[in-house]
Formats: sequence, C-alpha cells, structure tokens
Amino acid sequence: MSDPTVLPTQTTDPAAKTSPSFEIREVGTVKSVRELIARAVGLPSCMNGQMVEFANGARGMVMGFTEHEVQILTFGGKGRIRAGDEIYNRGEEFRVPVGEAFVGRIVNALCEPVDGREPVDAAETHMVFAEAPGVMERIPVDQTMETGTQILDAVIPIAKGQRQLIIGDRMTGKTTLGLDAILNQAGKNVLCLYCCTGKTYSSLMKVVRLFQARGAMDYTTVVAAPASTPVGEQYLSPYTACALGEYFTRRGRDVLLVFDDLTKHAWIYRQLSLLLDRAPGREAYPGDIFYIHSQLLERAGYFSKELGGGSMTFLPICDILQGDVTGYVPSNLVSMTDGQIYLGTELFNKGIRPAIDFGLSVSRIGSKAQWPAMKELSGRLRLEYVQYQELLQMTQLRTSLSSEAEARLKRGETITALLLQDKNQPVAMEEQILHLYALRKGLLDALSLDQVKQFKREFHKAMQEWFPEFDRDLRGVKQLTPEIRRVLDEGLRRYLHGFGAAGAS
Ligand code: ATP
Ligand code: MG
Repeated sequence: MSDPTVLPTQTTDPAAKTSPSFEIREVGTVKSVRELIARAVGLPSCMNGQMVEFANGARGMVMGFTEHEVQILTFGGKGRIRAGDEIYNRGEEFRVPVGEAFVGRIVNALCEPVDGREPVDAAETHMVFAEAPGVMERIPVDQTMETGTQILDAVIPIAKGQRQLIIGDRMTGKTTLGLDAILNQAGKNVLCLYCCTGKTYSSLMKVVRLFQARGAMDYTTVVAAPASTPVGEQYLSPYTACALGEYFTRRGRDVLLVFDDLTKHAWIYRQLSLLLDRAPGREAYPGDIFYIHSQLLERAGYFSKELGGGSMTFLPICDILQGDVTGYVPSNLVSMTDGQIYLGTELFNKGIRPAIDFGLSVSRIGSKAQWPAMKELSGRLRLEYVQYQELLQMTQLRTSLSSEAEARLKRGETITALLLQDKNQPVAMEEQILHLYALRKGLLDALSLDQVKQFKREFHKAMQEWFPEFDRDLRGVKQLTPEIRRVLDEGLRRYLHGFGAAGAS
C-alpha cells in the first residue's frame, strides 16, 4: 500500500518564497470495485464530495467513509478500474466546465457535449456541489416569471428566483408545463436549462426535437442523464445543471431551470445508498435524502448585486402515485419549495388541460411580483372558479336554478373556456390581460361559449392590428393606467360591435 505524500509545488512567484504553497497529492490504492462504487485506502485527507482520479484517467467522487476505506462513486464505466490500481487525490472539489458556449448544447452530467457537435470551449469551471448563497446575499423577489400558462400567470403566479414544484400523477401534463415555460422565454432574455434525470431516452428526444423546432435551443441548455446513462451521472445531473446556471446568475442573468424529475433522482440516490451499504430508512430511502434535495433547491433565488444580481428560478417536477402527496419524497419537496402546482388525473381525464387543481395549488411568493394589471384583474378568479366547481356538483341533480346560480355557472364556463389551453402554445402576458379585462367588464357573459373561444382566438390579433403600440405600452407600465384602459375599451367596443363580421373572416 502506498503512503500518502505531500509534495511542494514548483513556483516562480516571489511572494511564494516566504510562504510556500503546497499541492496535496495523495496516492492511494483501490481495494475493490463493486458496481459503481470503488473502495480505496491511503487517502487520509480526502473529504466528502471531493474529486479523485483513477490511474486510467476516470474520475470519481468521494461519497463516504468506513473505518478503513473511502467509498468512491466512479464515472465512466466500471470495467476499466481494477483492485490494486492507483488512485490520486489532489484536494480538488468536483468541478464541471461552464460558460456561454454551453447555450444551445446538449451535455451529460459531466458537462461533456453529447449532441455530436464540436467540443465546447468552456470559459471556466464551477463547483458541482457549490454552497447555496446565504440570506444576506439575496434580495426580495420583484419580477414575475412569465410561464405562458394562463392559469399559472393569473392565479398561481411565479416570481423570478422562486422554487415552484410541479406535482402530479403519471401522464398529467407535468413535463408540458415546464416545457411551455421554457418556450415562453423566447425573446425575454432568460436563459433556460432542462435537466432530464432518469427519464426514457425517447422522452428526452421528444423534448429536444420540440426545442429545436421552436427555436428554443437558442437560449437553452439540455443536461441529459436519461435512464440509460450510468447511475452516478443521473445522481449528479441536477447539481451540474445548477452549476451551469450559476455561471450565468453570477453575471446578472436570469435563469429558468426545469428538473424532470426529482422523484427519479430520489430513486437513483436510494440505489446508490444501498450500494454504499447505508441503512435504509423511511420508504427505504436513506436518511439524508432530505438533505440532498434541500441542498439542491436552496441554490435558487434572486441574488444581490455583490453576487451578480441574477436570479435562478426552479421548476422541479415530482411524480406521485394516485394523488398521494404524503409520500416521503413528495412531502419533503413540498416543504422545501415556495409553492406547488398540483395536476390531477381526474381533471386531465375530463379534458381540462392543463389539469391544474386550483384548490391544491399555491404560490407563496409569486403574487408579490405579479404585474399590477394582472393582480387587479385576476384577484377574484380563483374564488369564482372554485365556487363554480362546487355549484356544478350541486346542480347536477337539480333542474330549476335561480338566475344568480345561472349567471355564476355561465361565468364559470366562460372562465374555463378562457383558461384552457393547448400544449406548447404559451400565451403572452399582454394577451392574457386583454382576455381577463373583458371578463372583468362582464362583456363575455353575453357571448355563447363558441363566441368566447372565437374571441380568444381573434381579439389579440385584432388589437395588434388596430393599436400596434399597445403591447409595448402595456409591457412598459404593467398596469391599467387610464390610457391603457381607454385603448382597451375602444378595442373591445370595436371588436364586439363587428363581432359577426369578424367571425366570418
Ligand atoms: P410522465 O409522468 O410520463 O412524465 P407528464 O405528467 O410529464 O407524464 P406530459 O408528458 O407532459 O405528462 O403529458 C402527458 C400527455 O398529455 C402528453 O401526451 C401531452 O401531449 C398531453 N398534454 C399535456 N398537456 C396538454 C395540454 N395542455 N393540451 C393537450 N394535451 C396535453
Ligand atoms: Mg414528464
């Protein structure tokens, strides 16, 4: 067994003569390799999360210790590392290359490009397990993250720097919500990251093709760790995505990060922990599963000027079974995010898309950053919608209804028609405001449902034609000033006046 050695580095820096710097270089020996875990001896000063290198050039990460051995997670194939090989520790943290050049690329969890294109020219490296900034390095959120999903922007608004969990059963549209939010960032100066962990290769390819077809790769990086990649890479992938994002936030940019999905990530970590001989705890997850997820989610936020002044918004996705949010991992994730979007199978099967449950979804900080115009218009929406749902259940048996109940039902139907939207068709905030303004004015109550749908299709286009400056003005002030109201009223009067004619065109 080789002894650890500490070698002074050669340096020409005159200052270093008085205080010589040392590079720690320990040489240990691999004792055994089982699955992805190597056990080594002779690395007395290595620490958790550090990088080590094997004689064949493969990298490893220190995952834990037993009394005599260091447990190391290996990357890059288990066949090539053998018992008896040398292993080197240079006292370095686990780092990945980051930089502007990664925008538009697909990389694996070690930030190596996997899209078959040229190598990436990285600007620098960044710690994969960087510590989250403290409270003093953050500032209150004051900007809205436009998702393009009307229910979210109006009723469950998300702020830049917020962590909003997307939770629901299988096949309820969770990924779609995340993807639509990314598609909606076109031209908004927000960089996006999509981190695929443990999903099938085909579902990853679907996402990539969608991004390519819609031009979203111009501002997006995909971190790909599908189920076919080594478990170690899948475990690392969300942290790698975070490291890529942090490079941009430190330069004052806004970043949106979708983790698809953290349930799979928890499964992966459970597998790893069993390989590391750790005792399984609740639901067979290791005890530190809470820690590894909170360590990740703490890295979101709106950062102060000293830290670059950027923001990192997280949309982690969580898969549940039969609507049960009380499982260990889902309840952990709910507790460590700033709100959740709950998607229900029942709603989805009824054809309500996106199948967001108003009652169980909440956003704890987003409304602080909502556009004042949106805040004003959407204030009563949730209540009206929930009352409509209740009324709908109650009135299924009755035949004669009071006129007030009729009006409420009609209002509910109109709201539903306005808020439902197809996948991958994000709606601009300006357009949403037009629709809700008409709803609040009560102008849509007189229209049939088909007419409401037609209004939804046509009104924004008509406004753009009549008042080409309007969208820009509204985005500038973000509130319903008398001038904005005047234009809106004028537009609505014109549109509703010629309603029949517009429908014919
Ligand atoms: P999984 O659990 O497999 O990851 P998921 O919850 O991420 O599923 P999606 O893959 O986003 O769900 O969507 C499931 C299906 O529903 C897809 O076929 C998708 O096209 C469809 N879908 C989702 N949202 C909408 C929508 N708003 N309009 C129409 N179809 C939708
Ligand atoms: Mg999905």
